[in-house]
Amino acid sequence: MEAVNDLVTIQALSSFWNKTQFTIGIDDTPGTSNHDRTQEISSELYRNLVEEAVNRWNRVLHRQDIQTSFPNASQINFDILDHADGTEDIHVTWWEQNEMNGLTLITPLNDLVANYAIILIAKHKQGSIWHNSDQIHSIVAHELGHVLGLGHVTRWGHNPFTNDLMITGTGNQPDPLRRISNLDLRLINMRFGARTESDRRNFTSPISIPSSEWQNLE
Ligand SMILES: [Zn+2]
Repeated sequence: MEAVNDLVTIQALSSFWNKTQFTIGIDDTPGTSNHDRTQEISSELYRNLVEEAVNRWNRVLHRQDIQTSFPNASQINFDILDHADGTEDIHVTWWEQNEMNGLTLITPLNDLVANYAIILIAKHKQGSIWHNSDQIHSIVAHELGHVLGLGHVTRWGHNPFTNDLMITGTGNQPDPLRRISNLDLRLINMRFGARTESDRRNFTSPISIPSSEWQNLE
């Protein structure tokens, strides 16, 4: 056994929100130019899938054992608005594109204010595996991980597969439903617990744990 090399690593994004309460507006308008959904994904199903992704985060973050183990992360809450009206922190929209699965665009509103506008784009690839509901809401949950400053997860060693929410890639994985892990929460907790805003922004070092310590929290 060479377990010493069997690690899971998560990167930290350089962009970061200096707040813990996030509002989400879902743009469920179907069928306009580059917001084109096929009839297989109705507005209602699309909205339900996004809501499920948001609820996955809220369920984990607000659990009692998380409050004990990750007190800074447990302060975070996502609140879905009735309508996307332009005041939301996170605007979720649909953009059919073949080259990627999801995208988080972060636009600083002001250099001095730690506040950002984020557009979340979930792909729908016609006639492909992306019709699968589990995969679609895993993409949205993954993008919300980026909103919280999480980069991607890499697993080194003998068994390269983990179904951590923040792994990249799609397709031929045995379990398309990616899950929030203790590694994800650990990075969020450390970063939101940093003493100053500047420390939080500059928190960009990756974190590694032995893969045997990786735990699915969902
Ligand atoms: Zn990603």
